[in-house]
Amino acid sequence: MYYKSTRDSSVRVESAVAISQGISADGGLFVPEQIPSITKEELAALADKTYAQRAAFVFSRYLTDFTEAELVYCTESAYNTKRFETENIAEIAHLFEGTYMLELWHGPTCAFKDMALQILPYFLTTAMKKLQLKEKIVILVATSGDTGKAALEGFKDVEGTEIMVFYPEDGVSDMQKRQMVTQEGSNVNVCAVKGNFDDCQSGVKKIFTDKTVKEELAAGNMRFSSANSINWGRLVPQIVYYVSSYVTLVQQGELKMGETLNVVVPTGNFGNILAAYYAKQMGVPLGKLICASNINKVLTDFINTGVYNRNREFYATCSPSMDILISSNLERLLAHMGGQAATKSEMESLNRDGVYHAEITEKKISGEYATEAETFAAIKDFYEKTGYVMDTHTAVAYAAYQKYKAESGDNTPMVIVSTASPYKFTKDVMTALDAKYADGDAFALQADLERISGVAVPAPIVGLEHRPILHKNVCEKNEIKDVVKNWLK
Ligand SMILES: *Cc1c(COP(=O)(O)O)cnc(C)c1O
Repeated sequence: MYYKSTRDSSVRVESAVAISQGISADGGLFVPEQIPSITKEELAALADKTYAQRAAFVFSRYLTDFTEAELVYCTESAYNTKRFETENIAEIAHLFEGTYMLELWHGPTCAFKDMALQILPYFLTTAMKKLQLKEKIVILVATSGDTGKAALEGFKDVEGTEIMVFYPEDGVSDMQKRQMVTQEGSNVNVCAVKGNFDDCQSGVKKIFTDKTVKEELAAGNMRFSSANSINWGRLVPQIVYYVSSYVTLVQQGELKMGETLNVVVPTGNFGNILAAYYAKQMGVPLGKLICASNINKVLTDFINTGVYNRNREFYATCSPSMDILISSNLERLLAHMGGQAATKSEMESLNRDGVYHAEITEKKISGEYATEAETFAAIKDFYEKTGYVMDTHTAVAYAAYQKYKAESGDNTPMVIVSTASPYKFTKDVMTALDAKYADGDAFALQADLERISGVAVPAPIVGLEHRPILHKNVCEKNEIKDVVKNWLK
């Protein structure tokens, strides 16, 4: 299996190259030349396998240049109970008939980014070995909150790597910030940026393709790679949980093999829902893929009109990991729909004018959004109905799902993808449940959340407020390159 660039039809590389480079030299993203398939028999055969074994099977279809032993090493190292709080790795909560919550936050940082970032360092170091590359890998990350911490946890003290994380100073939750600034490890660097996530992402993306910085790196026997979902090694692990949860629901008698399952995904950079798209294209019987946005609803508008327009007000919401106006992974869907020439010109138009138009030939993706009030109401209503407390991002998905259901009348079984533990957004979650908590302290409110939800504070965030702050850097948005150069010295 080869990978092509979304912007240049002459690029053709194996997965180890795609993963070690992160992004194609032409600025495009790597996508598989063909999407592999999985049969119903193969799905059924995964039933008695562990999550790690299911993952190794899915990867064998995409990372065909990795040996079976290498894939087993990567999957067994990442998906185990030393790293995740549950043996199932991804847990499915049954809510009411035909509605399921796919909890992807039982990893070390309590957000779904762990599903990919626990394994990415193994993919990356294995790929470097396979390619006989001896350079040190410098991982550059722009984060809207959860990726930064998950990447720091994944890469801390991994030999032959250095990790650098940029986050929007006022664009992340108290808990997210605390998780990052207390990060330990000999190879970790963290800096706040006076700007929003798009500023961080644009700054970081520019450095990747900056010739002078690259030359400096090469002289020091180093190379950049990416832990953002622009890296194929970040995206491919996310396909696994769609395959795995379908298999589990069949195994549990909730679905008949072949029966359609809808999914609703709280979306920011379009990585998670794109993984659902790949799973569907492989042959997993998924129906509608509902892309849920908060009021930064550039994707909802795009899906409904074909016009992508980032020239609009940016809102800081209670679902900060979805506060994004440039959804990088959409480029992959565009390339699968319209080819490289069209994608290249759409991306040029986005860079130049902040807007492009594309014909949406993929009709299985629906776009819905939720306002802040709808998100808060979703948390409260859902708690009152089921006793289950969900985080703000998951609440956006739930509110979007309700709208979709009301508009379409579609009663197909539905998986709500839950992307973070409510303990990462304690203050907003508690305020949604009762306005009296609005002035509370995020850490002090943990005890209240524990009492109300009946779910214990996850081990990785117990006592976080007492850990020493190790990273105090702040920079302007145009200084990201200087900070990186400084760290490289
Ligand atoms: C990153 C993140 C999202 C958005 O996922 P994308 O793959 O970027 O669309 C949603 N919710 C949470 C909690 C996240 O951390």
